[in-house]
Amino acid sequence: MKEIENPMVIDSLWRDREKEPEVIDECLGCLEDIVAGEDVYKFVSVTGETVRVHQNSECCQQYIGALAVCEIAGDH
Ligand SMILES: [Zn+2]
Repeated sequence: MKEIENPMVIDSLWRDREKEPEVIDECLGCLEDIVAGEDVYKFVSVTGETVRVHQNSECCQQYIGALAVCEIAGDH
C-alpha cells in the first residue's frame, strides 16, 4: 500500500507548491513582498536602483515619508 500512497503525497506537494505566489520584489513602502499580479509602481530611485512600490496611497506615503524631510510649505 505504501507504494501507492507515496506518489499521491508527492503529487499533492507539487500542487501546493504551484499555488504559492511568485515573489517579484519587496515594496519599499510597507516592506512586504510584492507578488506576481499585483499593481505596483516601478521606477528608478534616487540611489539609481530600480525599485517597486505597491500602487496604493499608504505604500507611496510610507516610501516618500522615509526619503523626504517633512515640512509645512511656506513655514520657515
Ligand atoms: Zn506595499
